[in-house]
Amino acid sequence: MAEPLHRLAIVVPTPAHSTVGGPLSYRSELPLAAGTLVRVPLGRREVLGVVWGEAPDEPDGPAREEKPVAGVLDGLPPLASAWRELVAFAAAYYQRSLGEVALAALPPQLRELSPEQWQRRLRRAAAAGGGAAVDPAPALTDEQAAALQRIGAEPGPFLLHGATGSGKTEVYLQAVAQALGADPTAQALVMVPEINLTPQLQARFGERFGDAGVVSLHSGMTNPQRLKAWLAAHTGAARIVLGTRMAVFASLPRLALVVVDEEHDPSYKQQEGARYSARDLALVRGKLDGAKVVLGSATPSLESWQASERGRYARLAMPSRIGAGPLPQVRLVDMNLQPKGTVLAPALAAAIEERIARGEQSLLFLNRRGYAPVLACTACDWKSECPHCSAFRVFHKIDRTLRCHHCGFSERVPRACPQCGNLDIAPLGRGTERLEEHLAQLFAGTRRPDGEPARIARIDADSTRAKGALEAQLGAVHAGAVDVLVGTQMVTKGHDFRRITLVAALNADSALFSSDFRAPERLFALLMQAAGRAGRDARQAGHSQMWVQTWHPAHPLFAALRRHDFPAFAAQQLDEREAAGMPPFAYQALVRAEARTQEVAQGFLREAAEAAQQLPEAPHVTVYPAVPMAVQRVANVERAQMLVESASRPALQRFLAGWQPLLQARRCKGLIRWAVDVDPLAI
Ligand code: ADP
Ligand code: ZN
Ligand code: ZN
Repeated sequence: MAEPLHRLAIVVPTPAHSTVGGPLSYRSELPLAAGTLVRVPLGRREVLGVVWGEAPDEPDGPAREEKPVAGVLDGLPPLASAWRELVAFAAAYYQRSLGEVALAALPPQLRELSPEQWQRRLRRAAAAGGGAAVDPAPALTDEQAAALQRIGAEPGPFLLHGATGSGKTEVYLQAVAQALGADPTAQALVMVPEINLTPQLQARFGERFGDAGVVSLHSGMTNPQRLKAWLAAHTGAARIVLGTRMAVFASLPRLALVVVDEEHDPSYKQQEGARYSARDLALVRGKLDGAKVVLGSATPSLESWQASERGRYARLAMPSRIGAGPLPQVRLVDMNLQPKGTVLAPALAAAIEERIARGEQSLLFLNRRGYAPVLACTACDWKSECPHCSAFRVFHKIDRTLRCHHCGFSERVPRACPQCGNLDIAPLGRGTERLEEHLAQLFAGTRRPDGEPARIARIDADSTRAKGALEAQLGAVHAGAVDVLVGTQMVTKGHDFRRITLVAALNADSALFSSDFRAPERLFALLMQAAGRAGRDARQAGHSQMWVQTWHPAHPLFAALRRHDFPAFAAQQLDEREAAGMPPFAYQALVRAEARTQEVAQGFLREAAEAAQQLPEAPHVTVYPAVPMAVQRVANVERAQMLVESASRPALQRFLAGWQPLLQARRCKGLIRWAVDVDPLAI
């Protein structure tokens, strides 16, 4: 007797490009709901798959024998339709295969567990949860209360434009409380741009809501930790998920609120695989789940700012800092007027010295780690070039290495010039290590109020490599054990330093004349963020300062910075972008190709551009010539890119979808890979 047979469309891990990644057909004796997680045979392997629906009928019967589903991950509710729609949207929009996006959005361990291990995990997840003791919420300021009231009353999406220190986090906390209070099963998702901001956020949410219902999701977690958090969210045991960009794909069947903190931050854009923007997907997700979305920033992205100008987002303004501490006074140092070779202008050094003597802290940031970006021979033209990349290797004095920041290639510093044997090889330029050394000398004689010598510390990717190092170093800053902190932009974000009254940016200029049209926007955001670290304690805020050393003090960006006037800066930038027909007034995508030679990479792109002319949307899309990428060669791979642009997002989307098979068909010898980056952040 024949079993009744169910034919199912199941999404399985597939290659990246969208033309080959649709669901495959399998048969099952049981009817399985869409969203059910299953194990299915694929080639010689057995893989995790997601039931997507019924398999489409094939007019002439199945082309080949459909394989049976091997097993079902029992006891797990199916993934919600909103989750599946989000994944399908992301795959289509970012030009990747459904299989790649769907499987990448699930915790890796789901792919590995046997049915028995699986059952054990599930029981443990069910046992967790419950039991909240909790911190009372402070009384809100008028601005906070007004923002919260509107979040409760209006549909959104909201753009919370709040000055640094205006208490945005408290608004997020109470908006979450409001959403969870309205429905006993509701869930909330809160995203932050950086892993290192999640522990402090987890602590604050844990204090307020109880630890049991709050989980984090980020790439710094082990696979078992990730699975545990994912399960808690999927089963509803966790009501609040905090995380970095990957958390946008968390399974939250009862999602009612999504918060994207520091929504302008470039870290929300994934830079490999499916190059999604978690900020943009948060808005899509809000629609699909019927959840409210709050984007927050002191310096919103121009895309979001424009949307709020046009009324597509409801703008909530919180211009005042809590405790009424004013924003720091901005002081520009004209480097043209300083003696040659000046590292710190004398006036800046004096201002730091004053603070050391008063027991206040200063923060100096320099976006360049290592001791010096280049090591060079004084006798010949040798420089510390990386043999594998079109870039210099950075001199790290601490471990006496030359290290390539692109491919990782590292060697001990040579004793003599490898080209001419000269013993005198010297560092060019200055990174955080060298700045730290310079400050130690400069302030060697300066005493703290307790009579101890000034303490200099450095926080960057090198100093925080060891597990727990960042927490320990931040702890030392908070405890007052550091007088002058040197760091990369890592230290400018999010931290609520209470004793810093001076912040200085030492090499901001390169962004002013960058070929990337978003560089000024990023610089302004960075400087405003950095300024926001100073004077967070109202008792000291009166004399807090933000110093910028620049060769171009008359640049209009600095005029807006001086007044802390984001709206003026945004208006000026948006005017320029509109005149030049650039985002957010146009939509862009980049096609990138990597190959053994630059000719092959560019040749592939040129042929693809020619083929694109046959597409019906071609008249509405501009395809620019292929060019080498800014760092042209990395790890012996040549890289080229081509910009495509359209005034219409739907036209660009149709164009890209039609182009995929043409690109795929033009794969050639020597081509290593290619990828499309939709809404690229760095051009
Ligand atoms: P932002 O995220 O906007 O930069 P924070 O959320 O870090 O600002 O808030 C700045 C400081 O103000 C924090 O120390 C926070 O605890 C405090 N704060 C926020 N809201 C209130 C309030 N309503 N009453 C008292 N203190 C508050
Ligand atoms: Zn030499
Ligand atoms: Zn290299």
